[in-house]
Amino acid sequence: MKFCTNLTVPQGPRNPDSLWDFYKQCLDQVRAIISQTESTRPALASDCKLCHWRSTCKRQLKNEDDLSLIFELGRAKRDVMISELATVKALSNADIDNLSRGEKTVSPRIGINNLRKFQNRARLLTEPSANPSITRPFELPTSEIELFFDIETDPMRDICYLHGFVERRLTIKGRIVTGKTIDPNPLAKGSLPENKVPRRLRIKIFHGNRSIAYTYETSFQ
Ligand code: SF4
Repeated sequence: MKFCTNLTVPQGPRNPDSLWDFYKQCLDQVRAIISQTESTRPALASDCKLCHWRSTCKRQLKNEDDLSLIFELGRAKRDVMISELATVKALSNADIDNLSRGEKTVSPRIGINNLRKFQNRARLLTEPSANPSITRPFELPTSEIELFFDIETDPMRDICYLHGFVERRLTIKGRIVTGKTIDPNPLAKGSLPENKVPRRLRIKIFHGNRSIAYTYETSFQ
């Protein structure tokens, strides 16, 4: 299939810059970072868990009391809020009513409910006496068999260095006996039906363009 595009035309009616303009902006930025005339600013995200720079960035974010330390408040929200609320402490102490504009706030694309939610989370991080709270009731599901799968990878080196399962099941006596927990479970109703007991589990794990198949034998009888 042949694919060609003109890199010098505007990207769209709302974006007059061409892809070539965008490329040159990025290139200038990279050169400025390498020559240390411009510095980067980290923001905590799920990707950071897989990144070599995590401990360095986390230290900087903690020193700066950066807003992205708040759960679900990532780079995009941090960058629009930072002119009004630069730190977790500032958000924790803020008078939200002063920042509201009806359902909106002074920060673009941040609604008043979101701002209140993030302030509660900021207070959980800043107030020593803060306790976890439940915002609405919920019920945890129960199952006859539970499988917990955990995997640890290092994508920079293209390896998976740990993975495995913990199995939990209900028994005749109504107790969870496998895995690490032994808990009375009042919801247990009886032994497992034979046709529901897994004995072998096959999974495939993908690393970049490679995939490795693993087979797990369960301990269920
Ligand atoms: S840890 Fe990595 S991904 Fe996270 S902010 Fe730092 S450089 Fe970016």
